[in-house]
Amino acid sequence: MANRALPGLTVEELTRELGSRTRAIETVKWLFAQWPLPERLPDALPTVSHRAWRPFIAKHGLVTPRIVERSVSEDGTTKYALELSGTSVETVRIPSKTRSTVCISSQAGCTRTCAFCATKELGFIRQLKAEEMVAQYLVARAEAPRHQSARNVVFMGMGEPFDNLDEVLRAVELLTQAPAPMLRAESVTVSTSGVLPGLRRFLAESKAALALSLNATTDEVREQVMPHNKTWPIAALLGELREDARRRRRPRDTFIEYVLFDGLNDSDEDADRLVRLLDGVPSRINLIPYNPYPGTSLKTPPEARVVRFYERVVKQGALCLVRWPRGREIAAACGQLVLAKEALGFQPL
Ligand code: SF4
Repeated sequence: MANRALPGLTVEELTRELGSRTRAIETVKWLFAQWPLPERLPDALPTVSHRAWRPFIAKHGLVTPRIVERSVSEDGTTKYALELSGTSVETVRIPSKTRSTVCISSQAGCTRTCAFCATKELGFIRQLKAEEMVAQYLVARAEAPRHQSARNVVFMGMGEPFDNLDEVLRAVELLTQAPAPMLRAESVTVSTSGVLPGLRRFLAESKAALALSLNATTDEVREQVMPHNKTWPIAALLGELREDARRRRRPRDTFIEYVLFDGLNDSDEDADRLVRLLDGVPSRINLIPYNPYPGTSLKTPPEARVVRFYERVVKQGALCLVRWPRGREIAAACGQLVLAKEALGFQPL
């Protein structure tokens, strides 16, 4: 194990480093009770012996995210621009009636080039470490009102999680481990744009929920909006989900994300094809009317078209929800997670 910073170590790793499971558990409890996170690890922890703690802090640091900017939309959606070890990333807290969902970035920038996504404009900056992902959760969690505590996490921020899968799997483990923060695996959703090798490994190794960003019902259209579909086409991706469903006793929570673009993938035929494609894939469809960003030629369908698509899909027995954009005025909605490079000093590597 590299010399990781907290909160990047599992209880098992802390047990080895600190010489006892009790000390490891006390350290995790202490860490997840902190806000704001201190600038560095303290010289002593009341519940951990000096003899064990001193060598530990000589070896391991602490991730200390700095909030550079905080934008709040009318519905309470809050977008944070964070600085993490000199890199700028975005995190979003999305409140609902009784809880908040924290949307985490897994990479600074992205290597993929989805036509509808503002993040691609940044290019790829660097992979984020698991501790930097958990630190994003801690920042947003600390600001969630008591009646909207942050109990859900989605890896839907900047980056393709399966292009940084080791760190994402570790972050999922850290977010779900006891004694804290102990999120339910089903409350953590990892979203992919369809990177097949990563999808296979994730399905085999993780209990977390999955979201597949599908966005088309033919390879021809999907290649226009997600060029890597040439390498990993629709049938291969959905075949993998079908296999996963066959292997499991209890179906995994699986979401099919379908961004609707005006005149491109929003026809009645698309709706019918979508239902047929998902035969044998236990899942729920999330329809997302496209959120345009400056410079894109893709358009949002009229509301009536979105409703028609939804009704057609539901009539055929599919589970479906329309995700009307939230936080659009602060560019925190799906595919809009990008900041002005200059304002935040992005430095592509
Ligand atoms: S949609 Fe996701 S995978 Fe595609 S460019 Fe944007 S961040 Fe990357």
